[in-house]
Amino acid sequence: MNIEPRSISGSQHSNLDFLKNMGTTTFTKKTLGLETKEPAVTPPGTDAGTTFTRKPRIAGGRSKKREIPEGLWTKCPKCSTMIYDKELDDNLKVCHHCNHHFSIRARERIHALVETCSFEEMDADMVSVDMLSFTGVESYTDKLKEYQKTTGHKDAVITGICKIGPHRAALGVMNFSFIGGSLGSVVGEKLTRMIEKATEMELPVIIVSTSGGARMQEGMFSLMQMAKTCGALAYHAKKKLPFISILTHPTMAGVMASYASVGDIIIAEPGAMIGFAGARVIKDTTQAELPPGFQTAEFLLDHGLLDAIVPRPQMKQQLIDYLDFLTAGRKENAA
Ligand SMILES: [Zn+2]
Repeated sequence: MNIEPRSISGSQHSNLDFLKNMGTTTFTKKTLGLETKEPAVTPPGTDAGTTFTRKPRIAGGRSKKREIPEGLWTKCPKCSTMIYDKELDDNLKVCHHCNHHFSIRARERIHALVETCSFEEMDADMVSVDMLSFTGVESYTDKLKEYQKTTGHKDAVITGICKIGPHRAALGVMNFSFIGGSLGSVVGEKLTRMIEKATEMELPVIIVSTSGGARMQEGMFSLMQMAKTCGALAYHAKKKLPFISILTHPTMAGVMASYASVGDIIIAEPGAMIGFAGARVIKDTTQAELPPGFQTAEFLLDHGLLDAIVPRPQMKQQLIDYLDFLTAGRKENAA
């Protein structure tokens, strides 16, 4: 073993020799299996703080660690890098080091996709009604009020007409922070109205989905939204208008089983969890081991459900390219 005890290494040899010559008693000490000699009177080390007066503190001076105010840095859950929040915002909440996509608020996403000041919101004040007088741990009415207060949104989707590059389009963006982006009657109605408006104005539809599924507090009224939105999309498709579905983390259950999976082009963000039933339910039902990466965007791209995986910073340009391609024939006919 090459480990030398710290107290005997380097220049301290000379200190020891000096002390020996002064006639000081020495004793042996076993450290890490090595026998070392130390003087009875240990020369004061640099860390023998009690004999020294502490440096006076400069008023307001703090250690470097404490100088970082909270809320300025975020730790990436995938690569553990500390990322400066401004840097993270500038890159649309995507980690520079490992490409991890953090969740992003609906308004931020709209801002990242559309041309400045081009978004005209539709049905902004539509709110859910507690038709079933549902009461669980708390009443549905209280839950709605609580989420409206904490998120600043009336419900789990924002819809409107906007401009993306040179293209006018109808855009719906779901918001997972509002009761898990659940598909309540307001989400279904707002999306349906937006799709119908797009059909009337002959515009492409883009829906950015993120959802845990149906809203259980609305029971059957929630499930009916699956058919209603798909019905509206069928009329939209009959006019040969394109629908691009963007799946973000997570897109599950009722939303994936309806409008999110019927896009002419279906794209996803990297690493997004996409599926119908949860992995545990499937495993318990089928009693079979699930393949690695099951229900991730990458797995679904390999198995043909998705057309592409597009990182968030490139999403806007990719949409413009798709819209150029999908609307080229229509423009030629109109000309
Ligand atoms: Zn990272």
